[in-house]
Amino acid sequence: MSQDTLFGKIIRREIPATIVYEDDEVLGFKDIAPQAPVHVLFIPKNDAIPTLDDVQPSQAHLIGKLAMAAAEYARCEGFAQDGYRIVMNCREHAGQTVFHIHLHLLAGAQLGHFGT
Ligand code: ADP
Repeated sequence: MSQDTLFGKIIRREIPATIVYEDDEVLGFKDIAPQAPVHVLFIPKNDAIPTLDDVQPSQAHLIGKLAMAAAEYARCEGFAQDGYRIVMNCREHAGQTVFHIHLHLLAGAQLGHFGT
């Protein structure tokens, strides 16, 4: 079951998204407000997990699945060699706004340092 968040609606195709990756466990779609020339979000399709802090040991493999999906997408799109960044925000101080865990993939330009 997917949680009833905005991203749950995207999983269920109730609202539109530009889906660029899908397998049995992971959905990848373009961020609606891109922060880099490439900005794709990768989410688990079948598990309702609000934040990274809520991931149970039995669900830990999903974090690897998200990262591997991002890496595969980067290779398929031809920018893996140039490089990319993956980010997961957890709760308020990180700016998390959608409480269905998601991995940001940012690429397509030289990215600046971050932290504040
Ligand atoms: P932040 O909003 O600070 O980036 P998150 O890490 O929770 O925090 O990221 C949520 C992301 O979801 C944002 O980058 C936002 O642009 C994106 N987003 C929100 N609504 C949609 C949508 N309908 N389709 C695609 N991306 C979306």
